[in-house]
Parts: sequence; structure tokens; C-alpha cells
Amino acid sequence: ATPAALSVAVGRAAQKGVLFRKGDALERLARVDTVALDKTGTLTLGRPRVVEVRLFGRTASSEERQEALGKVAALEAHSTHPLARAILEYAQGVPPYPAEEVVVEPGLGVRGKVLGREVLVGSPRYLEEKGVPLPDLGGSGATLVLAAEEGRVFALFAVEDPVKPEAQEAVRVLQAMGLRLVLVTGDREAPAWEVARRLGLSEVHAGVLPKDKAQLVARLQEEGRRVLFVGDGINDAAALARAEVGLALATGTDIAVEAGDAVLMRDDIRLIPFALRLARRTVWTIR
Ligand code: ADP
Ligand code: MG
Repeated sequence: ATPAALSVAVGRAAQKGVLFRKGDALERLARVDTVALDKTGTLTLGRPRVVEVRLFGRTASSEERQEALGKVAALEAHSTHPLARAILEYAQGVPPYPAEEVVVEPGLGVRGKVLGREVLVGSPRYLEEKGVPLPDLGGSGATLVLAAEEGRVFALFAVEDPVKPEAQEAVRVLQAMGLRLVLVTGDREAPAWEVARRLGLSEVHAGVLPKDKAQLVARLQEEGRRVLFVGDGINDAAALARAEVGLALATGTDIAVEAGDAVLMRDDIRLIPFALRLARRTVWTIR
């Protein structure tokens, strides 16, 4: 494509809500054959809600419940993760305890000292890694957040984050264009496949830690794939930078936006097939 044709296309894309931050990104986009999509906040609304809480207490009295929520809130107050927001919203009105030595571990959870005791809040995998025995988690398709104190689980939160209403159409169009679609998430297999099933996706990589999202992109590239990565979170930044083209959602974190070659200014993922089509048409037009 001529420079003039490219700048016309970049202008059209901007009008629709796709901002190309780098000049050659549109050309690279035309050559993409694989789209890797982050789950939380990209395919789902990113506004998770706590739908169930289980306490593993002695009496499950209301004081014990307050205490449990206060401890969890103490740690989640230090995280900006959507799951942390969901739990804080649920625990509204419960005074959080002061926490010390808090460490936020991206893609895993948060730990720290609450009332002098070691408390962990995060994924089943995170607790398992820390040597905490897990309760029976069942086959639930919800995202699970567990809380443990001194090595013992005391609370389980089941959290649901609905799929975006336009996600199905976006996926269908991308598939019709012949693109290989890959869902990538730090969440467990069950909730990842639940989203995949709803959207008709057949390739899922679950339990992928933030640093391994970029590795996965690299692996696809080694297979000869040209990858567009779409994500919104801090934990997507490395993958966005590594991909042929990184497309960040403006609704996500600043870090993700900075790592992207292009930004979706409107929260409508149908703009992904729109941008791909525009790029292909612009670049492959015979002059
Ligand atoms: P995704 O790839 O879907 O955006 P993440 O990599 O951010 O997911 O997180 C993976 C998992 O780590 C979550 O499903 C959750 O179980 C756990 N996790 C991460 N951060 C937190 C937190 N602040 N509170 C509770 N759990 C967390
Ligand atoms: Mg995300």
C-alpha cells in the first residue's frame, strides 16, 4: 500500500475507535493469521461479581463471617485486580483489618500479615503452591478465589464475570475470516472452557501466568504464526509487546495501553474484525 493509502486507513480506523500508535502496525495487522485473546476484561465484561461464599469456620456465625471478610478485604484493598474489586464490593460495610508486609503476586493473588497471622488470598493454584491443602472445589465453571490463614483455607468465593454481549459476533466473524483463535487466561480450566463453549472457541490455554502469556505468543510464532494479541491487563503487557501486533483495550490498565501497537478506544471487540478487514483491504489492494 502507498503511504497515502495507509494514512487514510489509519484515519478511518481512528474514527471508528481503533487508534494505531505505530505507523507500521496496520501493515503488520494485515499479515496476522492468529488472534490470541485474553479472557478477563477482553472477552468478559471484566466486572466480576461474587455469586457464592463458603466459610470453612467452626460456627459460621455472623461474627465469624465479618472476621473472615475483614481479613480478605485487608489484602484485596492492596490489589487493583477486577477480582479484588468484586470481593471488596461484596465485603462492603465490613471494616477491613490493617495488613502488613502485603505482597501482590500478579496472576496469583495477594499475601500478607493480618493481625500478625499469615493470610493468603488467590487462586487455588496459588494456595497449592504455598503448601495449603485445598478443599473439594467441585466442577464449578465459576472463577474461584480462596482465602487461607496460617496454612488453612477459611473462605471460598465463587465469582462470575459475564461474557460481553458482542463477543459472540466478534468471534464468529473472525472465524469466518479464517483466523485461528486462541483463548489465553490465568484463570482455571473450568471457567476458561465455560467462556470458550459460549463463544464457540476450541483452543484454550488456562492457568497461564502473566510471564507465560508472552511465552505462549513466542511459541505460536515459532510455529510460524503471526499473532495479534488482544488484552487489557497489566499481566498482558509482555504478550502485547511480544506479538506481531498488540491491541490493548483502553478500558484496561495504562500499562497495557502503553505496551500495545494499537488501542481500542471503544469497548466493542467487534472492532477487532473491523480493523483486520481494513488492514487487509488496504495492504492487499492492487494498485
Ligand atoms: P486473566 O488472565 O483471566 O486476566 P489473571 O492472570 O489476572 O487472569 O489471574 C489469574 C487468577 O489469579 C485469577 O483467576 C485468580 O484466581 C487469581 N488472582 C489474581 N489476582 C488476584 C487477586 N487480587 N485476588 C484474588 N485472586 C487473584
Ligand atoms: Mg485480563
